[in-house]
Amino acid sequence: VKECACRLTDSAFAAETFTLRETSSAKHTNGKVLIIAGSSSPSSSMTGAAILATRAAIACGAGYVCVSLPEGMATALHIAAPSATVIGRNVDDIIEKAAWADSILIGCGMGRAPETIDLITKLCESPEISNTKLVLDADALYAIASSARERRSRTFFDAILTPHAGEFSRLSGYSAHDIRENPLDIIRSYSAEQQINLLLKGNPTLIANPSGKILINQSGTEALATAGTGDLLSGMIAAISAKGPDTWNAAAAAAWFHGRAGDLANDISSLVSSEDVLTAIPDAIAEIFFA
Ligand code: AMP
Ligand code: MG
Repeated sequence: VKECACRLTDSAFAAETFTLRETSSAKHTNGKVLIIAGSSSPSSSMTGAAILATRAAIACGAGYVCVSLPEGMATALHIAAPSATVIGRNVDDIIEKAAWADSILIGCGMGRAPETIDLITKLCESPEISNTKLVLDADALYAIASSARERRSRTFFDAILTPHAGEFSRLSGYSAHDIRENPLDIIRSYSAEQQINLLLKGNPTLIANPSGKILINQSGTEALATAGTGDLLSGMIAAISAKGPDTWNAAAAAAWFHGRAGDLANDISSLVSSEDVLTAIPDAIAEIFFA
């Protein structure tokens, strides 16, 4: 384990990385998160992905969550997450909000329409976005994979990509077989080459940084193998990183709490849903700090 510069996450790591609210804190010092998610295409609406990510960020203690949604989706979000604010999809409005945010999540349930890919590409090229902690998931990964090579290798201040194996294969060009057989070497070299943090989902989940270090998360089981759990994880990473830790450490702590929430949900129900995992997030956090 030492030779591969790997470290296993555990409750001590999670406790070290996650910060509770301080006595003198206020909402704007407890992490301002901007989430750009959801789609409203009549053929494929994914409002739920935006809601799950938003609620997971709130469950991880974010002081303020603002969500960019396509027109027509604000009411659903407001009902599901009354404390969150909503802005539209105007690129200038999003960039203005990015300057306010401590961390930004892009991608959950955005769909793959050409105008969406174009929006994501523009956002990633804006300094307000690239200089803020950034979590890129789901359709943002698709947008990056489909943009021209020279537009892919931009520099980010502190960003993490959070693909599952299929998304990582599309992104990197490695086959699913190679990724399965040799994940540590592959993610290490991809992270160094692209100078970006990378969380490869699976059992275990591997979190690499460009210096070659890898955090390995083993909490969680197949109880998490259901739609929407990935959206929860990316919202959690955004909220935890907004409070201070870099996205690499925040992602590993989020993966630990996420897996633990899955375990706790599984103690209650043997057929866990994403909604069950969401409900268990505060319990997974409380278990460490208040048990
Ligand atoms: P996504 O594919 O984006 O929805 O993300 C699924 C989430 O569930 C990731 O955090 C995975 O690591 C986790 N997950 C899915 N299947 C398993 C499994 N069999 N064992 C452990 N974690 C899993
Ligand atoms: Mg996903």
